[in-house]
Amino acid sequence: MEIKLDFESKENTILDFKKILLGDIDIKKFSVKTLKENEEEISLEIRADGLKKIFNLKNYTNKMVDQKTVMAKAGLLLLFEKNYPWGALVGVRPTKLVRRFLIMGYSFEEIDEILEKLYFVFKEKRELLLEVVKTENKYLNDKGINMYVGIPYCPTRCKYCSFASYEINSKLGGFYNEFVETLIEEIKLTGEMLKGKKYNIESLYFGGGTPSILKENDLEKIIKTLYENIDLSHLKEFTFEAGREDTLNLKKLNILKKMGVDRVSLNPQSFNEEILKDLNRNFNRKHFDEIYREIKKLGFIINMDFIIGLPGETVEDILRTLDQVKDYEIDNFTVHTLAVKKGSRLIKDNYKIGKIENEKIEAKIKEITTLKKLYPYYLYRQKNTHEWGENIGYSILGKESIFNIEMIEENQSTIGLGGGAISKKVEKIDQTRLSIERFINPKDPYMYICEMRERMKQKNKLFEF
Ligand code: SF4
Repeated sequence: MEIKLDFESKENTILDFKKILLGDIDIKKFSVKTLKENEEEISLEIRADGLKKIFNLKNYTNKMVDQKTVMAKAGLLLLFEKNYPWGALVGVRPTKLVRRFLIMGYSFEEIDEILEKLYFVFKEKRELLLEVVKTENKYLNDKGINMYVGIPYCPTRCKYCSFASYEINSKLGGFYNEFVETLIEEIKLTGEMLKGKKYNIESLYFGGGTPSILKENDLEKIIKTLYENIDLSHLKEFTFEAGREDTLNLKKLNILKKMGVDRVSLNPQSFNEEILKDLNRNFNRKHFDEIYREIKKLGFIINMDFIIGLPGETVEDILRTLDQVKDYEIDNFTVHTLAVKKGSRLIKDNYKIGKIENEKIEAKIKEITTLKKLYPYYLYRQKNTHEWGENIGYSILGKESIFNIEMIEENQSTIGLGGGAISKKVEKIDQTRLSIERFINPKDPYMYICEMRERMKQKNKLFEF
């Protein structure tokens, strides 16, 4: 697409936008001419291959430097009559944009207007976005940091999985014992790295993989090593992903309780056992229910994750699963839209996402969240999903996961330990911009075991604070 603009702009961002939201249209020439620009108003003439539209809008540029570029992109949607629920918003973290507008000094009302008139975001998405940001703002704290521990093993690998996860019975599963030893050593080295430094770890999160695959004594040893080597006295929450019921028993739950875990995630994804089996995910409903009852008895805050759009599931199947959520007393409810990601079996099988009737599903989610007094508190969007769907975390008031909020907003630094863990150093450049440096541990347990010590030296440099 040839681009002609009468103002300064990064043309690449317009090309990327076209590729993402108008990928099915072949556009030869695209031009934008400024017809009027004063303190009150901006008027652009937008043309593409014989089509023409005039786009008039209030001038927000006293605070927003790239208004004309955004208008040019949104103008493409106008020209080709494309209506998307999220309009011209293409980032995976729309809440970050809203927070940036807030920092620039816009009110929530003004932001709503900008999202409507400049980005063409539908009313229900705008309301969702603003509600989430209002909640997040109560919890965000850039004075704290968080810690993530990655256990890259699972009983079997789900076909849609793109995470750091290897089957425990595979060749790499054979390195389990060495992996645990290496992780313990990494925790000790991290303790040394942090010695004498001022830091407040607010949240600790065990993810993966499925951390509850750890054997009982390893589970206890790893958490004990953390307490002995890292200052966790500022911890506000300790989350443990116990996503797969086939890894859980009462003994492990008791250890988690004893070791200070206060939140667990038990993730059925669907209650359709046949579908889960086809996706290479074991699921035994009777055992799941027993585990759920024990989790409740022990008093953990409980989250359940579900995926909308699993291969083979009809809308009726999804509604049936969602209806059954009502039987569980959950504090957090996370709804993902299926994404076909690199590294998953689905992508190797060339699986194509079809259309689903969102209205019925959204109405059912609304019914459940209203009934259970759950409200949205974090969200992010994903590429390669049903119409760029969003993932939404709902929570009962006061039970929100601050780790999830901080991760999505990239507001705190993260110390990552274990397989595939990402460490991030987040620093403010100015009021609205952050610098984020990342350091990723190898996903592959064997590589992690071989390289941990060497990589620890690089991590030391990252956290020279
Ligand atoms: S349980 Fe989660 S991490 Fe494990 S294979 Fe399935 S999707 Fe991947």
